[in-house]
Amino acid sequence: MPGEKLYEGKAKIIYATEDPDVLLTYFKDDATAFNAQKRGQILDKGKINCAISTHLFQLLEAQGVATHWLATPSDREMRVKALTILPLEVVVRNRAAGSLCRQTGLPLGHILAPPLVEFYYKNDDLGDPLLTPDRVRVMNLASPEQMDTLRRQALHINQILVPFFASCAITLVDFKLEFGLDRAGQILLADEISPDTCRLWDQSTDDETQRVMDKDRFRQDLGHIEQAYQRVLERVAAQSAKF
Ligand code: ADP
Ligand code: UDP
Repeated sequence: MPGEKLYEGKAKIIYATEDPDVLLTYFKDDATAFNAQKRGQILDKGKINCAISTHLFQLLEAQGVATHWLATPSDREMRVKALTILPLEVVVRNRAAGSLCRQTGLPLGHILAPPLVEFYYKNDDLGDPLLTPDRVRVMNLASPEQMDTLRRQALHINQILVPFFASCAITLVDFKLEFGLDRAGQILLADEISPDTCRLWDQSTDDETQRVMDKDRFRQDLGHIEQAYQRVLERVAAQSAKF
């Protein structure tokens, strides 16, 4: 039995549990894009994202990354460590896509080596603006030491996820991470890692539309969204079984 509902976001609901250090996150089928201006539902997305996130958190934990993941007691629920979330979206990019193409003119798919790490302010009212180190300092969002840790952690996670997705015949184009602090002030990876928060391209085709296996299918009305998410899960599950 979940406890009190603490928060309902765009994709998940957060419940209290019997343990104040533990939260229950419930994955919904609701989908939003363009700062929630576009809304819809993706059938079984909650189950698929919960399963994919579970596999990826377990993979990362096995490689020494501290995450909030504790257990996945049902197909839409995850028990996680209760954290104070840093109001930062940490985006890692291996190839240019999305806002990076729109804002810089770099062509879609342009390889970024070394990968780009960017910080955005997690604030829907302001449209999640891109931050600079000086803005982070002025806004007091994180200390310079915490920023160094976030950057190092994000690149380390990328180094684990890129070859893992490649083993699934998927190119990890970019992704967004959230981190939080536990009572001891330790930084842990939080939230989810799923086709909602990553750009994933199927390596079996070069077709710009067919290769998309992530939320861009929803953003751009490309169709077959559920099937694409399901295919990601099947491949991630099959590869995870080998670890
Ligand atoms: P949003 O808030 O952007 O609409 P979601 O619907 O995914 O996003 O809501 C989940 C919320 O829970 C997010 O605000 C996220 O930062 C927060 N969250 C994720 N993991 C944890 C955690 N371990 N402890 C506390 N909050 C968390
Ligand atoms: N992303 C996310 N949540 C956000 C913004 C971005 O999960 O609020 C993910 C997005 O799915 C992509 C990466 O972060 O994998 C980079 O997103 P980008 O800045 O290109 O955003 P866009 O404006 O194209 O959605």
